[in-house]
Amino acid sequence: MQPVVERINRLEEEFQTLSEEALREKTAAWKEELSAIQDSEKLQERLEELLPEAFAMVKNAARRLCGKKFLVCDHEFHWNMIPFDVQLVGGMVLHHGQIAEMATGEGKTLVATLPIYLNALTGRGVHLITVNDYLSRRDAECMGQLYRFLGLTTGIIQHDQSPEERRAQYECDITYGTNSEFGFDYLRDNGMATNRGQQVQRGHYFAIVDEVDSILIDEARTPLIISGPATISTHQYDHLKPLIADLVRKQSMLCTRLVNEAKELEQQGKKEQAGLLLFKVKLGQPRNKGLLKSMEDPEIRKLIDKAELSFYQETSKDALVELKEELYFSIDERQQEADLTELGRLFLNPDDPNAFVLPDLLTQFADIDADSTLDENEKNKRKQGAQQHCDVQAERMHNIAQLLKAYCLYEQDVEYVVEENKVIIVDTFTGRKMPGRRWSDGLHQAVEAKEGVQIDRETQTLATITIQNYFRLYEKLAGMTGTAETEAHEFHDIYGLDVTVIPTNKPVRRIDNNDRIFKTRREKYSAVIAEIAAAHHRGQPVLVGTASVEASELMSRMLKREKIPHTVLNAKFHMQEAEIIARAGLRGAVTISTNMAGRGTDIKLGEGVLETGGLFVLGTERHESRRIDRQLRGRCARQGDPGLSRFYISFEDDLMRNFGASDRMTKIMESFGIKEGEELEHPWLNKSVETAQKRVEERNYQMRRRTLEFDDVMNQQRGVIYGYRNEVMDCAHPRDMIDEVIDEVVPKKVASFLETHGEEPDVVGLLHWVNTTFPLGMTEEKAAFSKRSLEENSTFLITTLKNTYEKKAALELAEARISLERYVILNAIDRLWQEHLYAMDGLREAVYLRAYGQKDPLMEYKTEAYAMFVELMQQIKEEVLSNLFRSTTNLQAFEALLSSMPQHLIHQNTQEQKHPAPHSSRHEEQEQTFHLPIQRDLPKVGRNDPCPCGSEKKFKLCCGKG
Ligand code: ADP
Ligand code: MG
Repeated sequence: MQPVVERINRLEEEFQTLSEEALREKTAAWKEELSAIQDSEKLQERLEELLPEAFAMVKNAARRLCGKKFLVCDHEFHWNMIPFDVQLVGGMVLHHGQIAEMATGEGKTLVATLPIYLNALTGRGVHLITVNDYLSRRDAECMGQLYRFLGLTTGIIQHDQSPEERRAQYECDITYGTNSEFGFDYLRDNGMATNRGQQVQRGHYFAIVDEVDSILIDEARTPLIISGPATISTHQYDHLKPLIADLVRKQSMLCTRLVNEAKELEQQGKKEQAGLLLFKVKLGQPRNKGLLKSMEDPEIRKLIDKAELSFYQETSKDALVELKEELYFSIDERQQEADLTELGRLFLNPDDPNAFVLPDLLTQFADIDADSTLDENEKNKRKQGAQQHCDVQAERMHNIAQLLKAYCLYEQDVEYVVEENKVIIVDTFTGRKMPGRRWSDGLHQAVEAKEGVQIDRETQTLATITIQNYFRLYEKLAGMTGTAETEAHEFHDIYGLDVTVIPTNKPVRRIDNNDRIFKTRREKYSAVIAEIAAAHHRGQPVLVGTASVEASELMSRMLKREKIPHTVLNAKFHMQEAEIIARAGLRGAVTISTNMAGRGTDIKLGEGVLETGGLFVLGTERHESRRIDRQLRGRCARQGDPGLSRFYISFEDDLMRNFGASDRMTKIMESFGIKEGEELEHPWLNKSVETAQKRVEERNYQMRRRTLEFDDVMNQQRGVIYGYRNEVMDCAHPRDMIDEVIDEVVPKKVASFLETHGEEPDVVGLLHWVNTTFPLGMTEEKAAFSKRSLEENSTFLITTLKNTYEKKAALELAEARISLERYVILNAIDRLWQEHLYAMDGLREAVYLRAYGQKDPLMEYKTEAYAMFVELMQQIKEEVLSNLFRSTTNLQAFEALLSSMPQHLIHQNTQEQKHPAPHSSRHEEQEQTFHLPIQRDLPKVGRNDPCPCGSEKKFKLCCGKG
């Protein structure tokens, strides 16, 4: 690389004669040229050619800025740096997509500007990732001067920015921000935005990650999670449960009576009547003990089947409906459906049986539209009101249906068990418990309500990604840090990043002393305090490194007792911390710091400190990872300063206790003949500690690898879903995509009902599905499914569906309709994807438990996750169909409401994930005013209204029967 460095320096000398204008013109010309290159290989070739000139430009601009003053984070900053040769080399390493290991104080912030400038010329946006918001702002404000001088723009992402502000920052040539902000923006763009205009990022071309070990290794264990309130309100279950429990008891009593009557009838030889009553019980309480017992007798089973068959004949439809109406609710075990009857509705709310009926939204809308006394505004308001009312009703009915199923179809110790206040699903085929898995669509909550255990999922995951997978999105990735070497193989294996160690600008003068080892913590700490006191009195500044906030506080108390003035840092308030740590090099200063505190801020030596030997870094414990210890040592002796480091350890430290280092040391100690109370110091002992550290490092690496292997599965699925989502947002006519769904799903559904495998085609079931999913009000005569072939039926339904939809669509404003259609698909994707995420979490926990059964959890996870995903895609399409006729013309209001839905952003330890952030009261308020639609059935007409087919019968007895 030396020849290139020389070339850069020669070019830079030439550039010194150019005018400032000429420099900016060069930038503009390159930018124009490079942004026209589409092919990425060609682009990289051209960048390679340009590198010396571009680096020379940056170096030259830095030279011209020297002596200039400007504000950085509200403090005056004097620019006085021109890249050193080693910095130029570092810049090249970054440009080539590698990790540059450069010691603390070598000026990595400036190094990054070289490849950033070069790559920003492509116009594709370059991202620089820092460890906190403060550093983003500091580095962007400082280096932004350089970019501006060269004619490029710089953006800064900060936590509190609005989407508009963020978009503006991403539009800049260069954008600084933290990994959390970048990652969350990605998740929001792809998992939440409902149109392209709401997205803020514009691609992932090149990212340089500062303190790359901290971000890609230490934080990689913690996925980014956006969570929001659960779509299913638990309050309704709490409130409905006693009502439904009563209703079920009522029905159960009724059914037991019927079973007894049936027995008598049977004994009297009235077989047919007995069969009829038992069939009625089957409709009302399929798991009734008496019924099940009777059914053990084949004679009786035949009677029931006969009765059942008679009701499913074309001519006895009315009779079946009448029969059901004698119950409080009916249960269809095979279809897993539950339906309230009028009797049931009256029981639940005698004053208003309509409280449990879905309003007829389309007619209401039509009525509103037809009312000439209303202006547009008023019409919209009323429609919105009607829609909201409908949503509430729909959710309530859905909850009731799920509770009925929970009571009548799900039995404790059969379908599930209750353990530790949790409902655990039992695989009914194998009898195996499946901890962590959940039934979807609110059923699990319903069972939880039934059992009176804690109803889970106050919040749910809306979107999530691991840090690893976020950074894999970039076409090109690079990183820089003082400490990467020890983790080189991990960077290589997981990110494909190679580590290149860059020599320091000046020779390192730091003295790393041997560890001092004590038998007990107490002995260690008193030696530490004595050492600090001595240094403080000499005037030598000390940076005391601790392993935890707790340890920092303990140190602080001990120093207070000795009346040694000191400052404590613990990585919470970045801005103040940077200021404090910057003073840590002053004469006599004592600063206590956890390992991440103040990272990124340089410690410059104060006056008269050189003579004392420079900054003294004193580690009070060895960290699990050698890298973190190196990082701490590196805080001193920057840029050729003198400096000194030493670690203090005791046999009682966690590392020593847990990783067997103590035993080995005791042996060494014995062979040296060292007595109680004495301290040890020998290079062999350092080695011994390092061996223990290597062991922990390896274990942690395996854990991170495992996390990643699991997340890879999710990552592929996320790719498909986000791709589909973006397609929906991009397509000009979402109607086409809906038509595709109709064309795909309807034939599948038709086949599922009609394709016979030795059984009778389920014509009734199909009609029921049609009439409860679409407002077609289809009569049996009109449907006439049995008269057509499978294909003809599909075609017939598809045509009818599309025609009806066309009619509905004609009512709406064209533009509103398009966004509505888009929304229908997006909503289906989002709702079910979120359910899926939740189920995947459950699966992940579950497979770990299976590991005890000698199964490879990863394989199990992959297989099941694949099956779940296939099902998800199918469900999404079905949901698109069910939501098709649910309309809100006032979409803007709806979208605004949606995007204002509270979201929690969590970036925390996986261990903590299981306890999601609790609701704040604000979230609860909002949740009450808005429910995501989760309804299943939407009959066009109220059940007791006259049937629209003109038969003069009630709807429920005519087309509405099912
Ligand atoms: P690192 O991130 O590598 O620890 P920084 O980027 O924080 O280092 O820089 C450390 C200090 O060195 C800063 O005060 C910076 O202004 C200074 N510096 C960096 N490069 C140069 C240079 N070429 N000439 C003079 N000072 C420099
Ligand atoms: Mg830095």
